[in-house]
Amino acid sequence: MEHRYDDGLVLFISDLHLDPARPAIVQLFLQFLRSRAPQARALYILGDLFEAWIGDDAMDPDQPVLAGMRALAQAGVPLYVMRGNRDFLLGEGFEAMTGAQLLPDPTTIQLHGHKTLLMHGDSLCIDDVEYQQFREMVRQPAWQQAFLSKSVEERKAYAEQARSESQGRNQSIDDYLMDVNQGAVESTMREHGVRRLIHGHTHRPAIHELEIDGEPARRIVLGDWFDQGSVLVCRDGHWDLEGLSPPG
Ligand code: MN
Repeated sequence: MEHRYDDGLVLFISDLHLDPARPAIVQLFLQFLRSRAPQARALYILGDLFEAWIGDDAMDPDQPVLAGMRALAQAGVPLYVMRGNRDFLLGEGFEAMTGAQLLPDPTTIQLHGHKTLLMHGDSLCIDDVEYQQFREMVRQPAWQQAFLSKSVEERKAYAEQARSESQGRNQSIDDYLMDVNQGAVESTMREHGVRRLIHGHTHRPAIHELEIDGEPARRIVLGDWFDQGSVLVCRDGHWDLEGLSPPG
């Protein structure tokens, strides 16, 4: 299926890390689904929508976030979701509960005349060898099958432990390991024949101008939703990163 937008509004978000422990951000996302998203031709969520996702079977379809997404999809706004490094177990059950369609990482779209590559971004952080090994492991079908065959309680305990280990590690490793590798960015863009890349993951929102083989190129990094929301608004040739304030 080709994703093609010659004009109109297209929205991109990522790294919401939705978690019951941060209810203001859950409210901000629900508000975004009701207020901004219905005007868009499509909404793209490029990974880490959820802080953790331990399997489609462990989730309640009546949960407000899933119901809110379903309402948007039912209103006719296509909703595309890429898996991140937190919610890599999103599956067909999630698609059925929300009406969203899961996207492979990477995916190419045609956006206002620009062939544009969409990624979560973690695969570009190749300087972090230890993380890349973990990523490789948890993406294997055999590992996922074994994990999903555990009880919900066991899976919750594993996710909790993985989260605290990763938090401890992120505080101790060098800053550059947490960012993308510039060579990986350029070779990936070259490989896919694009001069535009949109990704998240690093929580370093910015619009980077670069040059690839003598041509101007642009890498847009979406922001996380910790203290506020962040959205890339693409409308008729204007691409703007906007902040969203939490309600109340
Ligand atoms: Mn991530």
